[in-house]
Amino acid sequence: MKFSEMQYTRPDVPKILQQYQDATERFQKAHSAEEQLSIYRELEAVNTDIETNMTLCSIRNSIDTRDSFYAAEQDYCDENTPLLEEAQHVFEAALLASPYREKLEQQLGTLLFQNLEMTQKSFSPKITKLIQQENALQTQYQKLYASAKITFDGKDCNIAQLEPYKQSTERQVRRAALEAEGSFFDEHQKEFDELFDALVKNRTEQAQTLGYESYVELAYMRRLRNCYDAKAVANFRSQVIRHVVPVVGEIKQAQAQRLGLKRLTFCDDALSFPDGNAVPQGTPEQLLEAGREMYREMSPETAAFIDQMFQMELFDVLAKDGKAPGGYCTDLPGYHCPFIFSNFNGTSADVNVLTHEAGHAFASYLADRTISIAALRQPTMEACETHSMSMEFLTSPWHHLFFQEQTEKYAISHAEGALVFLPYGCMVDHFQELVYASPDMTPEARNQAWLKLESTYRPYQDFDNLPFYSRGAGWQRQLHIYLYPFYYIDYCLAQTTALQIWSAARKDAKAAWQQYFSFVKMGGTKTFLRLLETTHLRSPFAPGCLQEVAAETKTWLDNAYAELAQHTKLIFKSTFSGRWAVEKRILENAP
Ligand code: ZN
Repeated sequence: MKFSEMQYTRPDVPKILQQYQDATERFQKAHSAEEQLSIYRELEAVNTDIETNMTLCSIRNSIDTRDSFYAAEQDYCDENTPLLEEAQHVFEAALLASPYREKLEQQLGTLLFQNLEMTQKSFSPKITKLIQQENALQTQYQKLYASAKITFDGKDCNIAQLEPYKQSTERQVRRAALEAEGSFFDEHQKEFDELFDALVKNRTEQAQTLGYESYVELAYMRRLRNCYDAKAVANFRSQVIRHVVPVVGEIKQAQAQRLGLKRLTFCDDALSFPDGNAVPQGTPEQLLEAGREMYREMSPETAAFIDQMFQMELFDVLAKDGKAPGGYCTDLPGYHCPFIFSNFNGTSADVNVLTHEAGHAFASYLADRTISIAALRQPTMEACETHSMSMEFLTSPWHHLFFQEQTEKYAISHAEGALVFLPYGCMVDHFQELVYASPDMTPEARNQAWLKLESTYRPYQDFDNLPFYSRGAGWQRQLHIYLYPFYYIDYCLAQTTALQIWSAARKDAKAAWQQYFSFVKMGGTKTFLRLLETTHLRSPFAPGCLQEVAAETKTWLDNAYAELAQHTKLIFKSTFSGRWAVEKRILENAP
């Protein structure tokens, strides 16, 4: 079946609530574990149906936000989700209290029960109102962010559309783009500050109502951090400061040399090469076709996966009028398939859709076929991001299909970016910890805290009097801080693992693929640390892990820099032409 033929049916909420209530009563009166298990399976089918319809609705709403039918259906779904969650919560409490729990755990796995206990501890009907208010504040932030209409280069641009200008080879264009973006945030300073302040106070109240000291503990509970705590994360961050920050300093120096700059400022941060960043070659259709070729060659499993994606038309990636911004990967469990949404814009981010998002999609495709209990298909987010971030690297042997003669440049920026990300990701996490530990901080104190973290995690950063960024408010453009609190460390833990897998792949591609495949195939049947242990990957928290990962990646980069220098010398000799100035700069400054 093709995506366009999938039939949306509005979930009949009153009927579902009744079903839940009946099932919970029958469950409590059941006389055996078998009877309870069959009721569990019955509700699993109900959930699959709700999830499939709600996801169909949200995908179609994002594909065309002007379609009033799906906009209205989306409102209906949003309004009713809390009611459905409450019914689920009541059933799950009954499941945890079952006298047959031991037998049920044998069937469903102990982890499922551990996770449900965490879910129970992170919700109570007492905070429903606060959650609704939190949702409304988040929507306001999204609206404010999306309202940006910045006149630039003769066009009305939103924040995302300014991105290519920040990578311009002309310094004044990059600076102007950052100034334009900064002025939007400066103009709305009060609104951004007030929204965040309200969110911090709301979340703190939720935590205190549930008996927690601060929101940090509640956030860990909500994110189902079932195998590490905030102390382990703090220790991970200090390892990043010790072992990754200095390496990033060297990377930034190399970047400055390539660009022929004595001093690298924030305006130059997004430009990797003096002749421009690597961009995909070919039309969007050709990129998709290259993606198909890549996954067909990679393994029989990825071949079957990509064929399903194409046959069922599970991509909507071309930029179109009326489409919502951004990109995502989601699941349609009723049709046993994932779905990928994006807005191609001609930058290397387009290829990311076919490597990163497709990594998520492949994991979901595989789990659907190998794990019979729906609740155990998806692991916690650091493991999910390991699926996708590792796929970005495992696809390296095929990147030439997208970048052609720019492949070398892409490989360098990608590896540099992986390391540069780690301190930034930790800084975002650390900032949130400080903010929620002292919820009464003023907006100004928050900005000062951010600037102080900048000097620890990104000591090379020079904001060069840019508006907005210089006053320490740069964190306000990081959606996750407003919308998905404490998500960022998941990316850092995943990146550390992805870099290990990449290193293994450079030594033995087949063995690394098998290692990755076993990790992905286990879905959410184990905790993140157990998944790593089972597949002989090192825990990012283990002493020395980060140091080793950073050093190995840097060695690869040093070789790549040397090769690029060689390569560039050849180009320079053979094409002594108008691009001389640019190429001369690379030649002289390559490390
Ligand atoms: Zn991802």
